[in-house]
Parts: sequence; C-alpha cells; structure tokens
Amino acid sequence: MSLEFLKRLLNAPGPSSQEVVPARVWREEAATFADEVQTDIRGNSFAILNGGKPRVILTGHIDEIGVIVSYVDDEGFVSFAGVGGWDAQVLVGQRIRLLGKQGDVIGVIGKKPIHLMKKEEGPSTIDDLWIDIGVTSRAAALELIRIGTVGVIDANMYELPNGRIVSRSVDNRIGAYTVLEALRILSQERPMATVAAVATVQEEITMAGAHTAAFSFEPDVAIVVDVTHATDYPTANKKQAGEAKLGGGPAIASGSVNSPVVHQMLLDIADRDGIPYTLKVNSARSGTDGDVIHYARGGVAVGVVSIPNRYMHSPNEVIQMSDVEHAARLIASFVQSLTADTDLIPR
Ligand SMILES: [Zn+2]
Repeated sequence: MSLEFLKRLLNAPGPSSQEVVPARVWREEAATFADEVQTDIRGNSFAILNGGKPRVILTGHIDEIGVIVSYVDDEGFVSFAGVGGWDAQVLVGQRIRLLGKQGDVIGVIGKKPIHLMKKEEGPSTIDDLWIDIGVTSRAAALELIRIGTVGVIDANMYELPNGRIVSRSVDNRIGAYTVLEALRILSQERPMATVAAVATVQEEITMAGAHTAAFSFEPDVAIVVDVTHATDYPTANKKQAGEAKLGGGPAIASGSVNSPVVHQMLLDIADRDGIPYTLKVNSARSGTDGDVIHYARGGVAVGVVSIPNRYMHSPNEVIQMSDVEHAARLIASFVQSLTADTDLIPR
C-alpha cells in the first residue's frame, strides 16, 4: 500500500461541501488503474471497473470536519461555525488553515487565558472562540478570506510505531483510501461484478453524496467503509461502545442498515481467509453513509466495514495500517465472490 498516496490524501484540506482538493488527489490515483473515473454534480468521485451483474459500490466519504467563517469584526478577528460535530475543547489551542482567496491563510484559535477567566466561566463553546489571522482590521482580513471561507485544523500526517499513523481527516479519508485500495486489488483480479469505488462528499453534514451516488449508480450491493471508535485506550467503555482495537482488524457491523446476507458473507470470507475482525452492532442508525444508501431506489444490500480509530474528531486520529490492509483484502474478496446468481434477498 502506498503511504505516499495516503499522506497526500490526508494532508489535502477538504471540509464537508468543499472537498475538491482531496477529491482531485483521489481521482488522479484512481486513473492509474480504473477503467473509468468520473465525478458528478455534487462532487462525488467514481472509479469504475466495468463488468456484469451485480452492480456494487464501495464507498468512503472524502469530506472531513472543519470550520466556516461567519463574521469578521472591526479589528479583524474571525468568528466561525463548526462544519460537522466538534468538541469545542478539541478546538482550543489549535492552528487553523483557512482556504483563502489567494491561497492558504494560517490562523490560531483565540481564547481568554485561564488566568483571566472567572470561576463561573465554564468550558469554552465555539461561541467563546475566534480565529486570529494576525491582521488589524476587517478590511485587511477580507483581502485574505471572505465570509464563507472554510478551513481545517493545521495538522498533517505522521507515522508512529507499529504501522500506526496519526492525522486529522482520518475520518474518513481512510475510508476513501480503503475502497480505492480494494478496487486496486480487484483491477488485477477482474471480478464478474461491475464495481465502483466512490469517494462520497458531505457525510459529516448531510450525507448528500452517498444519497445521490446510490441513486445514480443503481447499485445492488454497497460496502460502506468508515471509522469506528477504538475502545482500547484508558477509560474506554466496551459496554457502551463495543470492542474494537488497533490491529484487531476491521469491525464488521450487523443490525439496522446492514444486510444480514452481506454480513454473513463477510464473516464467512474473513473466517475462510484468516482475516482478523471484530463485531460491531448498529442498533438503529449506523452513523455512516449506509444510513442513506440502504433505502436508495428499491433497496441496496449494505455491509458496513469500519476501521478502528482513536480520538475521533480531533487533529490526532490514530489508526493502524494493518486494519486498512485487512479491510481492503476482505472487501476485494467479497466482491470477487459475487456473481449474477448471488441471491442477496434475506430468506
Ligand atoms: Zn465523522
């Protein structure tokens, strides 16, 4: 697997609704082996291997959580809203990379120092924070950015021991990476199915990308790859979040949007091939693109495969690459097992 490609993908800033930078990186890589590479009006990217039935999509959302500029005051301090679900405590003390008018603009999250806070001033909310880009007036700020400029935390990828990596945007650039790696394997093995890896947009805010892709591609089957909470760190509660650990293989979900047929097929292949995995339960919504794919058109047989991730929605999301490799191999073997006669109806 190419860590060089992964690094370019993770470092590319692409908050939900403005995913063009990482999407271009993904499509460039896809063009080196896919039969066709396409994009659509919402910004989804498709890498396709032509074949017969069934039609399969492998989705990973390429957006990430970020910030959007909502107001600039007379002194040039920048107010912002969160794009996606932030813990405001995570934003405190961060550097921000804004996708400015003429290029990236670096700013810092400003906050009143603890020394000057009154007892009754509790933990910060986003409303208590601002971005300081070093200018001294509204006019100077608006030369660099505009209302609506988006940004991400300025934190790039590093390698850690044990084949682990840390980065912002792992949620869910790693899903978009995994499905493209699965397609890369399949491009050698040539499955009977028609299969598209899809880098979907806007999962963190509206799931619109998955919604439109599942309509336009008319899939029979979908494997959705996202991250899930690893529960192998101090204070983690397995009774609440289930069991998933770095290096334990992908988490294969059952319940809710998951097709029981696809679920069993994934388990059988993993057991047959000695691919490690853990089991995950979706009691209602899956919190992934699967939530809008499973009821597209006349219904889609969905399987959700997740990469265990520590410190979700922070600049320091940590995963282990062996879990990504195992997920890509599992998904490729699953697609390889599908024929026009595969019965996907639960009976
Ligand atoms: Zn997320």
